[in-house]
This record gives sequence, C-alpha cells and structure tokens, in this order.
Amino acid sequence: MIVSLHIVLASISLAVLLLAAYMRGSKRSLYMIYSFLAILLFNLGFLVEISAPVMEVSIIGKQIKYLGLPFISPFVLLFILDYYGYRVTTAKAAALFVVPVLHSLIAITFPWNGLFYLSTAWITDISTPYLKTEKSIIYYIGFFYSYLVTMSILVIALFSSRGKDYATRKQSNLIIASAAIPGMGNAINVLAPLNLPFDPTALLLTTGCTLLAYSFLRLNLFQIAPIAREQIIENIRDAFVLVDRHKCFIDANAAAKKLFPQLAHAMIGIPIDDIGDLPFPDGQDNMNNRSFEITDESGALRYYTISKTIIYRQHEFICNCLMIYDVTESKKLLDHVSNLAERDTLTGLINRGTLFSRGERLFQEIASAGGDMSALMIDVDHFKKINDTYGHQIGDEVLTIIAQKLYGRFRSTDIFARYGGEEFCALLPGTDEISAIQIAHELCKITECIDWEENKLPVLGITISIGIAAYVAEYHDTLDTLIGCADTALYAAKDAGRNTICNHNRIIHMGQLRLFG
Ligand code: GH3
Ligand code: MG
Ligand code: MG
Repeated sequence: MIVSLHIVLASISLAVLLLAAYMRGSKRSLYMIYSFLAILLFNLGFLVEISAPVMEVSIIGKQIKYLGLPFISPFVLLFILDYYGYRVTTAKAAALFVVPVLHSLIAITFPWNGLFYLSTAWITDISTPYLKTEKSIIYYIGFFYSYLVTMSILVIALFSSRGKDYATRKQSNLIIASAAIPGMGNAINVLAPLNLPFDPTALLLTTGCTLLAYSFLRLNLFQIAPIAREQIIENIRDAFVLVDRHKCFIDANAAAKKLFPQLAHAMIGIPIDDIGDLPFPDGQDNMNNRSFEITDESGALRYYTISKTIIYRQHEFICNCLMIYDVTESKKLLDHVSNLAERDTLTGLINRGTLFSRGERLFQEIASAGGDMSALMIDVDHFKKINDTYGHQIGDEVLTIIAQKLYGRFRSTDIFARYGGEEFCALLPGTDEISAIQIAHELCKITECIDWEENKLPVLGITISIGIAAYVAEYHDTLDTLIGCADTALYAAKDAGRNTICNHNRIIHMGQLRLFG
C-alpha cells in the first residue's frame, strides 16, 4: 500500500519534471527544473528504500534520497529570487549550496563515515524489513538549514507580493503554498512527530512541487497578458500619449507617432510644450473631448477627438493618458445624416424646418442688435401648367434648375430655402427695402433668362413672382410676421399679373412702379 503510494508520488514528480522541462524558457524555469529533479531523486530513493528486500538496497535508496533532498529548497529559493527580480550573483548562489553539498556528501557516504547516523540496524522481525537509524547532529544541521531556506522563501514571497496587482498576488500565494506545505510539514514531522504509519515528506514535497508546477504554468499564462497588451496598444488605430504630472512626455504608441511624427523623436521626460505643434499643448487640463483636424498625406481632412484618462497608483496621480480617436468616418456620417434632415432632397436647398431654425437665430440677432433684413417669398408662375404639359419629371427638373440658378445669386450669409412645392423663401441679413427690390428684380431676370434648351428641357418662358418684406422693428415682432408679410406681397404680385415683384406697399411690374394696397 505504502509502496504503491510512493510509486504514484515518484511518477507524479517525474511527470512534473518532464512538463517543466518541456515548458522551460528562462533561467528561472531551469532553477525550478533542478528542484523538481531533486524531488524526483528523493522520491525514487524513498521508493527504493521502503521496498528494499535487503539492507544493501535500502542503503542505496537512502543514498539516492540524499542526492536530491538537500538541494530542493536552495533551488526553489533561487527560483523565487529570480521570479521577484532580485539579482543573485554566482558567488552568492554557490554559497547557498555549501551546506547542502556537504550535507549530501556526508549523507551519501554514511555507511563509511559514521557521521550522519550514530548507528544503523537492519530490522527484519516485522513484515517489511527496514533500516533503523539513529540521527546525528549533522542530520539536524542539514535539516535546519533546509528549514531556514524554506522560511526565507516564504518571507520573500510574502514581502514581494505586497502592493502588486491581482495576478501577481495570486501567483505569489501559489508559490507561498507550494513552499510552505513541504517545509512546514517536514518540520512538524521532525520536531513533533505525528506518528503517521509513513514518512509524509515525500507526499508533502510532491504536493508542493505539483503546486509549483501549476503556478509555473499559470505564470506563463500571466506573462501572455502584458505581451499581448503591448502589441494591442502598438497596433490599435487609436493613438495614445502619456504625459506626467510635470507636463512632460512619457510615451506614445505607433499610431500617435504616425499622427504626430515629432513624437517619434521626442525624448522621454521633456516638457510636452517643447515638442511643439501638438493639439494638447500641456497635456493636462480641459483635454476631454477637445477636437482638432489634420490634413493627411493624401490631402484629405481628418477629424480627431481627445479624451483624457487619469492614471492613479494607490490613489496617487501618476500621469494623464490622452487617447486620440479618429472620428472622421463618424463625423462624415453625422454630417450626412444632419444634411439629410436639414435639406430638401430634390433641390438640395435647406428645407422649411431649417429655414425657421436658422432664420429665428438671424431674426433675434437683427432684432436685438439692430440692422436691416429682408424676406423674399418666391413662387414659380403657372407651374401646374408645366406639370400638366410635360409631366412631373420635367417639372422636377425645372424646379431644380430654378433653385440652382437662384441660389447662385445669394451670398453665403443669406438663407435660401425651399419653402414647399414650387415656392422658395430667402432671408437676407443687412439688406434694406431698396436692395431687396433690386435683388428680387435680378432673380426674376435670372429665371426669365434660363436657357432651357441648353438644359435639354422642352419648356419655354418660365417666370417667377416675388413678395418682399423689409424688416421694420415696430411692425415685424416675429420672423413669422415678416415671412407672412412677404407671402401677402407674393399674393399681390400674382394678382398683379405674375413675373412681378411686390413689397408690402408697392408693386413693381418689371420696371413699372404701381401702388399696392
Ligand atoms: P401660380 O402662378 O398661381 O403659382 O400657379 P401655379 O400653377 O404655379 O400654382 P398652383 O398652386 O396652382 O400649382 C402648383 C403646382 O406645383 C401644383 C403641384 O403639383 C406642383 N408642384 C409642387 N411641388 C412639386 C414638385 O416637387 N415637383 C413637381 N413636378 N411639381 C410640384
Ligand atoms: Mg406657382
Ligand atoms: Mg405655389
């Protein structure tokens, strides 16, 4: 039964050793492999010892055991020191092995030196014969040394994992457990024996080494995350720049360096202000949602927004991370959507809703600051006839061409909209009654003079009528009233015979002045 248990333990430690050897990649994993090899030797020796039919074989088992046992804890200690980043010189590492080497040598040569055991006897009067030994002071010195090394492993692991991230602490806990189980268990067994029917050292050491191998595998997994994270940061399309609390440049990813080539040559630690030509001059305040534009290599304008994330470590401000997002596509989409909402699909002019929202702002400005403004209501004459004669499609084309031609006469500050059907409305800031009449006159002329043949349309002699209302503060208290007056004037212009312009008290019939109302 006990022999089978030790066969299992020896097999486990062999499997763990092979796995660790297969996974090896760094110096630290070599230390672990050596400690696993030592555990395997111990387990094999133990197995030979307890299953030995004769004394000579049992002695060989003990010798194999001590070929491994003294070296387990020093190798684990070296592994731990390396894992937590402590540099150990070769001399110090060698010094660590002085006692274990002596311990091992004296133990292996025990049949001839008499230093390790005070006495030995081959006991055969029980079912399984065994080598009874009386331990010497050298045995206990070797044991206490291993115990001391194990304690230092625990202290180092406990001390070094403080304040580390979750993954590192979890890793440390596994290492602490894998070192503590055999160390503590063995100490209890030697100092205060539990009188178990078997020596638990092999079981505890194997459990410890399996745990350590498990944590080693996990460690490899944990190491993937930072590498992957770094590659992702380098390869993402969005740029990021780190700026410390002294407004100095710390780091930037490849996307940021592509966007601002000056960052590629910027020295770490120089004030961000000195790098020049950056849309985040100090990298500190009011960075959130700041936008800027850059012309790329192909000459196209691209839009970006900056969002700032403050990085803290243990509640202490370390640096600002400025994430720079390329929002060109979403801005284009947004512009397109708002354009669709604001414009008339047939003529491309702004629609009636936009006329009122923009017109209201304009009206309020003029009403509060004072100044001139005129509204024109424009309607195509006898348009129904065009539809009836040539069809709706030709009617649409006629409307579009009239809209384009009239649009060409307005300034960028004017608001010109399709009011509905074949009616248009224009709001002209800084335009008094006289100028408005003149412009309306020109608009009529422009329409009359459209070369329809050139546009491959069969229509002839299309005209428009225009109603004008020039803003008078005492009379027009709202934009609606002003447009209403222009509309009334438009009706009057129609009544006056079409191809006519009219303001709210005059009708000008293509140069001939008549009183209205
Ligand atoms: P008036 O000189 O009095 O303005 O006569 P009109 O025929 O232009 O006026 P009316 O209001 O009788 O007819 C307007 C016509 O305009 C009727 C309508 O079918 C047409 N119309 C309105 N919107 C569109 C459009 O988007 N496309 C086309 N093809 N026709 C339109
Ligand atoms: Mg009409
Ligand atoms: Mg009409």
